[in-house]
Amino acid sequence: METRYNEARAEHTVDFFRKHLKHTKGRWRGAPFILEDWQADDIIRPLFGMERLTDEGLWVRQYRKAFIKLPKKTGKSELGAGIAVYALYADGEGGPEVFSVAADKKQAGLVFNVAADMVDLSPVLCRRSTVNRSRIAHHGLIWDRPSNGVYKVLPGDAASIDGINPSVVILDELHRQPGRELYDLIDESFPARDQPLYVILTTAGFDEPGNVEWELHNYALDVVRGVIEDPYLFVYMRFCSPEETEGDKWRDEKLWRRVNPALTSFNPGAIDELRRVAAEAARSPAKVVSFKRLCLNVSLPRAAERTDKLVTLEAWDQAAGIRKDLDELAGRICYGGLDLAGSVDVNALIGLFPNEPGTCPEPGCQGSKETCYHLLARFWVPEEAFGDNAREWAKPLKEQLANWGREGWLNVLPGRVIDDRDIQSEIDLWARTVNLVRLAKDPWQSKQLGVLLREEYDQLDVYDLPQTFAKLGEPTDLFIRLALAGRIHHGGNPVLRWMVGNAIAAKDSGGNQKPDRKRSAGKIDGVAATVNALAAATKPDEEGEVWAMAVRH
Ligand SMILES: [Zn+2]
Repeated sequence: METRYNEARAEHTVDFFRKHLKHTKGRWRGAPFILEDWQADDIIRPLFGMERLTDEGLWVRQYRKAFIKLPKKTGKSELGAGIAVYALYADGEGGPEVFSVAADKKQAGLVFNVAADMVDLSPVLCRRSTVNRSRIAHHGLIWDRPSNGVYKVLPGDAASIDGINPSVVILDELHRQPGRELYDLIDESFPARDQPLYVILTTAGFDEPGNVEWELHNYALDVVRGVIEDPYLFVYMRFCSPEETEGDKWRDEKLWRRVNPALTSFNPGAIDELRRVAAEAARSPAKVVSFKRLCLNVSLPRAAERTDKLVTLEAWDQAAGIRKDLDELAGRICYGGLDLAGSVDVNALIGLFPNEPGTCPEPGCQGSKETCYHLLARFWVPEEAFGDNAREWAKPLKEQLANWGREGWLNVLPGRVIDDRDIQSEIDLWARTVNLVRLAKDPWQSKQLGVLLREEYDQLDVYDLPQTFAKLGEPTDLFIRLALAGRIHHGGNPVLRWMVGNAIAAKDSGGNQKPDRKRSAGKIDGVAATVNALAAATKPDEEGEVWAMAVRH
């Protein structure tokens, strides 16, 4: 494809903002809309200045779609409204039809109302236009009489997209779309225009398969990195990775400035407001998650914002303690839990090593009058889980898992399934190194392994634990209690941490709870195995006597 940068065209757009558009909000209201450097150089000039040569020999706008991802309070609506007004009056399109659309009518009305204000504030534009502001935002309309162009709000349902012939569409708040239907319908609605433009404005949504914002985010990253070639897509993204905001790192103002360009340009005072919001957020895990997502544009698993989570990551992280491996736990009493998978999936073995009250070497735990546990985790996953055909996991997740494999947190083995013998040989190693007393597993999983283990180890009580509310209710409650009290020391294992972050609770009518495999976002096998291990640790022995460890809980 032949492309070129048309400076005149780029400057025409920037000039239009300065000459005809005014800011509409706060103390800037009425001041000319002079684009900040980052808005002009990184968004407007390339987006409107780059051209491509068509087969008919016409130079038209190169980009058909713009993905613009910015956190809250960065002037997205004003920028979107400015683009809409430019598209209506100055884009050189015959009979332009401009639309703004969002997750709901109210949201779609936001960009429109700013645009209507801009037209009202411009004598030149106002004179040639009819502005109809309805109290019902989606009846609002701006009509440019000379060109017979219109700008309307679409209410954001599929039916409203039918039969439109847009030249430019502004889709605001993509992250609030419930699915991809509306996004796709608009994408397919640009039939008869030489240089249509689909502008997508968004803040970070949830990191989960099927979330259209997250899918587009990853697609856009691939385009930026050159993995996918898509010369029609314009990308401007400011965001942080979850890792960059872990622990207390989200409070680093350098990060805020990197993600929010308004803080170093037109809105320097906003830093005080952000500090206030951050200080408030620091007291509540749920608010930290919102702050990260909306102010730092971090895409997080939806489970991070759920209130029915088993355990908050903040509590989990605080109790991490010093990482101990098998040989450092030699000779210690150990209770095991297994969670095995049928095919392409994660397998987990968890060992819990009780510390008698008052003997725990971890700083925050010293002198505690209650039992706590050191936790040892082993994970296996078959290589095919990462294959191009494995659709269950999103690409970034596959990359993450592969990384953990390289770092030794995850055993990646060839094939589609993990062979029981691989897990058995690890248990064998444990049985020879530590005092492995009891091992609980799901009866539906791997009967073969249970038989093998029972034959091999007379002293080891391998037993089947039905994964029912009745059987899992108590160990799940115990898991939550111990984890929130900081009495599970896991050494910061990142695979288990990921699963803890995913895990939410299922409850039956009697109030029993257990880890919910179906509704949790992502894998939770390590959590299920830990609950099994706790069941093993607290199981009454054959005489009905409750284990000493259990009594003190
Ligand atoms: Zn402890």
